[in-house]
Amino acid sequence: MNAAVIAANAAATAASAAITAADAKTEHAAARQPTAATAAVLRARGTAYALEPVTLAAPGPGQVLVEIRACGICHTDVGVQNYEQGLPLPQVLGHEGAGIVLATGDGVTSVERGDHVVLSYASCGHCGNCSDDHPQYCSDFMLLNYAGLLADGRVPMQGRDGPVYGGFFGQSSFATHAIAYERNTVKIPADLDFALAAPFGCGMQTGAGTVYNSLAPKAGQSLAIFGTGSVGLAALMAAVDSGCSPIIAVDINQERIDLALQLGATHGILSDPDHLAADLRAILPNGVNFIVDTTGIGPIIRAGTESLASRGQLAVLAVTPPGSELSINPNLLLGGKVIRGAVEGDADPQVFIPELIERHRAGRFPHDRLVTTYKFSAINEAVADMRAGRVVKPVLVMD
Ligand code: ZN
Repeated sequence: MNAAVIAANAAATAASAAITAADAKTEHAAARQPTAATAAVLRARGTAYALEPVTLAAPGPGQVLVEIRACGICHTDVGVQNYEQGLPLPQVLGHEGAGIVLATGDGVTSVERGDHVVLSYASCGHCGNCSDDHPQYCSDFMLLNYAGLLADGRVPMQGRDGPVYGGFFGQSSFATHAIAYERNTVKIPADLDFALAAPFGCGMQTGAGTVYNSLAPKAGQSLAIFGTGSVGLAALMAAVDSGCSPIIAVDINQERIDLALQLGATHGILSDPDHLAADLRAILPNGVNFIVDTTGIGPIIRAGTESLASRGQLAVLAVTPPGSELSINPNLLLGGKVIRGAVEGDADPQVFIPELIERHRAGRFPHDRLVTTYKFSAINEAVADMRAGRVVKPVLVMD
């Protein structure tokens, strides 16, 4: 090949690269327009979701438009679906989304079009707790995750007869498309199955983070888990990975206890609040080092406080119905014992989710054993199966 041909080839290559870049820019600009999407809309408390066409607002500064490919269903969604919690309706829920970035708003630098991502909870990034790397206790947490609007005050969607609220946990991922924020959009490896990535956004992070971050047990210390739903079983897998022993799973469902035993629990207790403390003492006469409560049931938590070893810690994770109370004898806390709450596993999603993915890939966090996939259109069946205890972690897969 002579020099002229080489130069001509190089010019042609440069021209085609320029066309590709221009195409990408045009596509990106197009994706920054309002987007037609299909969403599972909750129109009235206690009713089923209806799949409806909506128009999603264009991503504003700091925002990210994501094509949702999978979304886990969590008990928090079920709670909002069925109980009055002050969220405006109609609304799109869903807060364990995973998918592909379609467009980014001004100022977004950490993700770009084409990136595979998982979406977690939103935080402001500049309040005291965010600055101290505890975004899960962001002073604007309720505003950014529960207000039904985008952080800039816009209504995120328009439906058949007016506004449809969203921005649920900074996403609203029971939909084919969602608007998230740079801070709660976490890049994931392109070869990771979206259905396995999605639950990292909330449930897996909450359960595993409570063990790894909030309680941080040492190998050989004992740990009990009250409630073996997806969050409890995520805590269990983290306890197994941390070398805890014994690990005691407590539930009202024998099948779940059997699953916990398969995943590495050393003991299972079919729970009865009246006997739980005695059952735990029979296994550990000096008490349990750590307890993770996912039930939010007062008598169960009280039995936990009666079962802690000296310097033991009990973490409560569940959102309980209004009016719930916990009554204990304060003497139970002497001996250096701690009852504490934890949100989202005390985890910064940008740091913790990549760590969890690494653990999963190393075989140390086999959460794939908890996941059952459903077509997006089967969302109501998936919710019913979860509520009936037939599946642990349903994940919707968008076509
Ligand atoms: Zn904050």
